[in-house]
Amino acid sequence: MFFGTLASGSSGNAILVGGREGSFLIDAGLPAARLLENIRRAGAVPEQLRGIFVTHEHVDHIRGVGALARKLNLPVYATAAIWEAMEETVGSLPAARRLVVAAAEDFCLAGFNLALIRTSHDSRESHGLLIRGGGVTLGVATDTGVVTPDMRTKFRNCDALIIEANHDSDMLWRGRYPQYLKRRVAGEFGHLSNRQTGEALREWIGENTQKVVLAHLSEENNTPALALKTVVEMLRGHAVREKCARLRIRVAPRHEPHELIVLGEERDAYGVLQRNRMAGGFTAGG
Ligand SMILES: [Zn+2]
Ligand SMILES: [Zn+2]
Repeated sequence: MFFGTLASGSSGNAILVGGREGSFLIDAGLPAARLLENIRRAGAVPEQLRGIFVTHEHVDHIRGVGALARKLNLPVYATAAIWEAMEETVGSLPAARRLVVAAAEDFCLAGFNLALIRTSHDSRESHGLLIRGGGVTLGVATDTGVVTPDMRTKFRNCDALIIEANHDSDMLWRGRYPQYLKRRVAGEFGHLSNRQTGEALREWIGENTQKVVLAHLSEENNTPALALKTVVEMLRGHAVREKCARLRIRVAPRHEPHELIVLGEERDAYGVLQRNRMAGGFTAGG
């Protein structure tokens, strides 16, 4: 498996996950042209995309869904409630490209098994994902005001996690957001603080955990250095280092992709992808 964020935060979100049988996006919250550019900058190939999964209907997650799906003829996966809520923004797609997934049932995309994880957010519905394939498990959740019971149990000892660290509570409450917005962000249906994420990671990180990406940082109420420092300090003293010496924690950049993370059996597939790319086997799709 290889994965990485293409952009992360309130100005636009997208995560790329790929392997031997192709790749897919979790959300497409940037204009299509920027998504294509960032996929290539990450070292991946847009022509290998097999679909887009949408977590919820907020515009920072769906801005480019319709345009990208039409351009690359991709299927879009979302629950019925999210389809209803995002219909207008996404625009017209052929019926065969509008796939409805049930929250309680796993489904398959690009050779991976995907299970929806319940999150808590002020959208019609919202979901994280547990992704299995290539011998590894990746847990993904952003846009949630609390760590839900579903997240709590299913993210334990994943090989990798992409998890929201949205704000520093002191910065939020002392900052210049209006009171109603502060309450929204900090509330049960808002976003996770650095400390909420640090606490959850204490429970989740196990001997298999190698990579953690802190995502969806607030531009106003957080900094990458502060998010990282808070989480690392909270993990210190919890024997995390003894449990998993390979663990690396990084922060997802706001506007750019970071270098793709490659785990498990897919190291080979990733090598093939890169060689084909160098040899011009995949061309830039315009
Ligand atoms: Zn968001
Ligand atoms: Zn949201």
